[in-house]
Amino acid sequence: MVFGAILGSGVGGGLVADGRIITGQNGLTGEWGHGPITLTEVDIEGETIRLPRQPCPCGQKGCLDSYGGARGLENLHRTLHDVNASSLDIIAGWQQQEVQANRTIQVWLQLVSQPLAYTINITGASLVAVGGGLASVAALMGALNEEVQRYVLRSTRHRLVVPGTFAHNGGMIGAALLARQVA
Ligand SMILES: [Zn+2]
Repeated sequence: MVFGAILGSGVGGGLVADGRIITGQNGLTGEWGHGPITLTEVDIEGETIRLPRQPCPCGQKGCLDSYGGARGLENLHRTLHDVNASSLDIIAGWQQQEVQANRTIQVWLQLVSQPLAYTINITGASLVAVGGGLASVAALMGALNEEVQRYVLRSTRHRLVVPGTFAHNGGMIGAALLARQVA
């Protein structure tokens, strides 16, 4: 069982079992980005950071999509620091130990890793292949793997979260395969 997590401009996902994409009800299986799930408190280095559950275009409030993808990372940075920065600049700042960017990524890792760990628990996935732009940042995927391992019920010796082979195009290729599978 492989869970494909998209961390592109937004958050999405899909589930593959025995080489087949599981579609489920309305074809939404693996959609972990929407629902009122975002943490409203995150503890970082002994400090509690409170976060608003923001309205999402899907009609709900508190979706991971608000903070989880590249667009969400920018929104999170703005929410925490009242500063506009691109996701690439935030990640570069984190890698250079810049204080605000580092804080944003620490919070982001908490917000994303916990729902991802639940998803692994629920689906029984043995691997999470991440697609989308954020998957191309190896250090970020390594940090996400470490966080997820803290929250899954059974951590593994092998790495759980890996960049997908088709990082940028993963969602598109998955959609094409799904269309072929359904046809
Ligand atoms: Zn939503």
